[in-house]
Amino acid sequence: MQYVGRFAPTPSGSLHLGSLVTALASWLDARSQQGKWLLRIEDLDPPREEPGAADQILYSLEQLGLFWDGPLVYQSQRSAAYQQALQLLQDKQLAYPCSCTRKELAGFSIYPGFCRQGPRYPNRPLAWRFAVDNNLKARWQDAIQGPQYWSLADAGDVVIRRKDQLWAYQLAVTLDDLEQGITHIVRGIDLLDSTPWQINLAQALQPEAPAFQYAHLPVIVNKQGQKLSKQNLAPALDTTQATQLLYRSLLVLQQRVDPAWLQEKPATLLEEAAKNWQLERVPKVTQLPEESLKTCI
Ligand code: GLU
Repeated sequence: MQYVGRFAPTPSGSLHLGSLVTALASWLDARSQQGKWLLRIEDLDPPREEPGAADQILYSLEQLGLFWDGPLVYQSQRSAAYQQALQLLQDKQLAYPCSCTRKELAGFSIYPGFCRQGPRYPNRPLAWRFAVDNNLKARWQDAIQGPQYWSLADAGDVVIRRKDQLWAYQLAVTLDDLEQGITHIVRGIDLLDSTPWQINLAQALQPEAPAFQYAHLPVIVNKQGQKLSKQNLAPALDTTQATQLLYRSLLVLQQRVDPAWLQEKPATLLEEAAKNWQLERVPKVTQLPEESLKTCI
């Protein structure tokens, strides 16, 4: 089966060092296995998006030489597909409307199932939840983090369509990964605890589809230990320094590098890096300090 990987940024801001490391690792993992690398803009949540951020991300990826295959997918254009997926789950009695408010759920670590037998307040705006399979244990061999064993009963029923009518991440990402024929998912460890839902949702939506292979990368954190993100004011990348940025990211990912690559164009560096790529060298930790990126050359 051909390797199909992807990078799926949310356009809440420009590419920063954290997202570069994810983009690079997923690109190299795909290219080193003669695979495809698809790009999907996860623009599901307009209030969280910054105007122009999607174009900025595309521009930065091009400057870095991280070219993608096939058509670009925008989640904002896929409402009809998400609607069909919701319908399918409803037909299978695996989705139910929920009237609970954030306030009512405060203090519960997982959704307590108040609306599983029908919404408690049917006249309120309703979200839709996926009824997880409480007997399911999600097991997978994470290529970085090692064997994983999660119980869906500990995850709880997750929102798949929000009260404000926006599609929720878990449904959109799972359906898109299925429909784009993704085989390998390389992304940040901050999404590790979403994986059990996505495994359960994939089984419900397309029971015959082969399981995704996962690799969860450490996230890059600032001095305060926070994940780099727009909210934490991570600076945008200066892609005029593309080769240096890529080289530093390779060092963070503990890959073999040759200082001679620093004299090369991004495309040449990437070609060499793909030949030398070893996913097993990526540190099996949850966090890597941003400082290590700044000081490693
Ligand atoms: N859109 C998500 C993000 O930018 C990534 C989703 C995924 O890789 O599954 O954090």
